[in-house]
Amino acid sequence: MKLTLIKQAVVVSVIATLAGCSSTTSPGAVDVDRRQLLIVPAQQLEQMAQVSFNEQNEKARAAGKLVTQGAAYDRVRRVAARLQQQAPVFRPDAANWNWEVALINSPELNASVAPGGKITVYTGIIDKLQLTDDELAMVLGHEIAHALREHGRERVSQAMAQNLIGSVVMGALQTSEAQAKMAGQVTDVMLTLPNSRKNEIEADKIGLEIAARAGYNPAAAMSVWQKMGSASSGARPPEFLSTHPANESRIAELTRMQAAVMPLYQAASRQ
Ligand SMILES: [Zn+2]
Repeated sequence: MKLTLIKQAVVVSVIATLAGCSSTTSPGAVDVDRRQLLIVPAQQLEQMAQVSFNEQNEKARAAGKLVTQGAAYDRVRRVAARLQQQAPVFRPDAANWNWEVALINSPELNASVAPGGKITVYTGIIDKLQLTDDELAMVLGHEIAHALREHGRERVSQAMAQNLIGSVVMGALQTSEAQAKMAGQVTDVMLTLPNSRKNEIEADKIGLEIAARAGYNPAAAMSVWQKMGSASSGARPPEFLSTHPANESRIAELTRMQAAVMPLYQAASRQ
């Protein structure tokens, strides 16, 4: 068992070297510069993400739950658009991404993002937490940051590196059987494995900076997590919390980061 783990670690590091492990984003004022293992082709993953995003939306539409107009929809779109304008600060190619936002009418306190910038927001998180625009910007900024950092692709890459020793990636993917197998694994990884704590901190930091640059008050980063924490004492804890613990260290970290982003917020507010 131990030997297997060591073998896996060696394989991961060899692949990391071969793949030219690097960071997906510029460090920004919040200084995120961890190098990442990215052996799965981005394009392939984005295609899969688009397929499942469309499926999700069609299902919601059929159930009469896909919100495509009205005040709540306009608000989510407006905040997301302002944040997306700042994304190229972290990676210039994000200016050409096909960002999409789906608003689903459902009591779930949740939001998520799929590779390539496919954001899903549930009305529950907005209504039950009574999110202000600043707080909504923190939630959306966090999700946008996961996409910019390609955390989904990184998790899938890590899973592949550990499970498919010997038959790793590219060549194997040319057969439809291998593609189907990979699609299954991708779905599993994306749906079942939560982001690591490291990824969560990165998304918090970059999301906070994007929101500040877009003119949203950084203090909302703390209030939104406090609201999330309070909601967790209710009968039905927020789904968002199963992958995003609103613990004290998270709030403390967001408080510590205020100094780095406050000047950006002030500059944006003066414009
Ligand atoms: Zn997250």
